[in-house]
Amino acid sequence: MAVPKKRTGHSAQGKRRANWKATKPETTICSNCGEPVLTHTVCTACGHYKGEPVSLKDKKVEVKEEKKTAKKATKKSTKKAEAKVEEVKEEAVEETSEEVKEEEKEDKSVEE
Ligand SMILES: [Zn+2]
Repeated sequence: MAVPKKRTGHSAQGKRRANWKATKPETTICSNCGEPVLTHTVCTACGHYKGEPVSLKDKKVEVKEEKKTAKKATKKSTKKAEAKVEEVKEEAVEETSEEVKEEEKEDKSVEE
């Protein structure tokens, strides 16, 4: 393992670090929307590359989410609707049976 012969002084350290520079990323202007775009990459603003639409990721995701929510909503709504219908039927059956019993009682009392 290489071992430094002498301690690096503050001056040498500073001179070495003076050459560390942040380089500006090379960009071009999007031919579709005019936004600055990294070279050889799809435009992040409009999804175009070389003037052609490439990425429709955001749009697809939106559509999928809408479909999912719609499906869920319809399933839930249909289930709820079915449950409501069943409840209503049960209530109707109970009401009709009670009415029938009452009518039978009235008939019996009239006959007597
Ligand atoms: Zn663009």
